[in-house]
Amino acid sequence: MLNRRNLLRVGGSAALAVVASGEGLLSPAFGADSDWTRLAGRLQGDLVLPGDANYPYAKQLQFAAFDSVNPQAIAYCETVADVQACVRVARRNGVGVRVRSGGHNFEGWSTGPGLVIDVSRLNHVSVGASTVHMGPGAASIDALAALAPHNKQIIAGTCPTVCPGGFISGGGIGNQTRMFGLGADRLVSAKVVLADGSVVHCSPTRESSLFWALRGSGGGTFGIVVDFEVKPIDAPNMVHFVTYWSWNDAQRMFPAWQEWMASAPRALGSTFVGYLFDAAPGNAPGIGITGGFHGPKSQLDAELARLSALSGAQPVNTTVRDLSYVDGMKAAYLCDTISTSQCHRVGQTPDAVLPRTGYQTNGFRLFNRSLDSSTNDAILTAFEADRHAGQGRFLQCIAMGGAASDINPRSTAFWNRDAQFLAGYVALGEKATPADEAAATAFIDKGSAVLDPASSGAYVNFPSSKLPNWREAYHGGNYPRLLRVKQAYDPGNFFSHPRSIGS
Ligand SMILES: Cc1cc2nc3c(=O)[nH]c(=O)nc-3n(C[C@H](O)[C@H](O)[C@H](O)COP(=O)(O)OP(=O)(O)OC[C@H]3O[C@@H](n4cnc5c(N)ncnc54)[C@H](O)[C@@H]3O)c2cc1C
Repeated sequence: MLNRRNLLRVGGSAALAVVASGEGLLSPAFGADSDWTRLAGRLQGDLVLPGDANYPYAKQLQFAAFDSVNPQAIAYCETVADVQACVRVARRNGVGVRVRSGGHNFEGWSTGPGLVIDVSRLNHVSVGASTVHMGPGAASIDALAALAPHNKQIIAGTCPTVCPGGFISGGGIGNQTRMFGLGADRLVSAKVVLADGSVVHCSPTRESSLFWALRGSGGGTFGIVVDFEVKPIDAPNMVHFVTYWSWNDAQRMFPAWQEWMASAPRALGSTFVGYLFDAAPGNAPGIGITGGFHGPKSQLDAELARLSALSGAQPVNTTVRDLSYVDGMKAAYLCDTISTSQCHRVGQTPDAVLPRTGYQTNGFRLFNRSLDSSTNDAILTAFEADRHAGQGRFLQCIAMGGAASDINPRSTAFWNRDAQFLAGYVALGEKATPADEAAATAFIDKGSAVLDPASSGAYVNFPSSKLPNWREAYHGGNYPRLLRVKQAYDPGNFFSHPRSIGS
């Protein structure tokens, strides 16, 4: 591992010379060890190269399936200047880059064969008079824990290690979204390193078109956000609930959940999950309905009774807890019995216990209305079909609407403002054999074919490389404007991935 500290420590005069010389001396055909040594010499953070002992860890994303991608180098940036140095050196030398914060992208867009600019160490969380500043690498669990003593809350999703770098850039849906909007809707300003290495501060009054584009079009396209300033939400408490239902009631529960959420108070956020931990033939699926409520527990109890009345079914198990916001979120993360430090992906902290996912194949779509009974039946049938032993299968549906739908689709880059819920299939497992891959692909393809005709769009933070018409599905009528912003801020398409704007 290379960094300025150990370069200076080994005291090589050649190294010192190149540190002083800057990037002007870089060779035209960049890529030799000495080229990387020069870049490392300019970084406060660390540059990890393929021969380094920690390279196998440094290249990891949340999904082990992307371990097959071998970047030329991973730069752990510790300062904005580090990010600028990486961008300038990569650009001048024609090295492709990918930007990485939490590394959760389903399709591996935060890694690639060139230089991975990792901003996970830009993880500050600071509280101002009326706003909060967060680094792109501030994992949800850390941000929530850091803000709790200040009685401040932010919108966060259902994974403790997802980071603002991707979450806010792509929209950001949480249990709080129906009441407070998307994560991106709370953005007040952002600091961004552009493709020429300069830093701009954008807000509604400065660089306003970039500010518009950053709110919901997805990361990795316009520049590297190094600071998010967000308006906190007013949610000191959260009633967290988990209910389980029999799959025998699925045909009643699935439409009832849609009807329930369509008429629920905005203070209620929830997710419907059909689950098969092992999709071996004969195994019975289950249903979980979980979420958070920003109001009195008695009102949530009444809402759960209303769900039973709508479905005509009773849960087999219910847990409802009136908690502080941070504890409610820890419960949602299944981290309520471990420390904040443990609630990280293994390797991220010394005592982290959360495992990575091996492989995961997804097909998610957005829906702007409750579905008719034949579509609901087809969705459930596709979930149960084509069993494959050892593979986990999920039908996951996250309620949206409410405050997220109050905003005009053209006011921010997040187009699908009429979405009432996100729904999709997941197939996952540890290490995929070719048979596992084939089964997962067939399951997701068939499921997506059922979802597609009824869908109203798609969510760029739940991407699928097979999504047809992705420009329209993710960005709708905002795509032409996004292209113009791309042209203005990154005309050379320096920041790109398979579904970045302009690709
Ligand atoms: C287990 C799990 C649960 C999830 N739950 C939810 C949920 O409840 N709600 C929800 O809305 N989403 C959820 N997501 C999706 C998540 O929001 C996206 O995957 C998000 O983009 C991840 O951001 P990241 O920074 O952690 O990932 P990364 O893979 O690092 O980044 C994602 C994308 O953003 C780009 N990017 C990263 N950092 C920056 C930056 N600083 N500047 C510009 N571009 C950047 C990357 O290049 C990449 O294209 C979940 C994902 C997982 C794996």
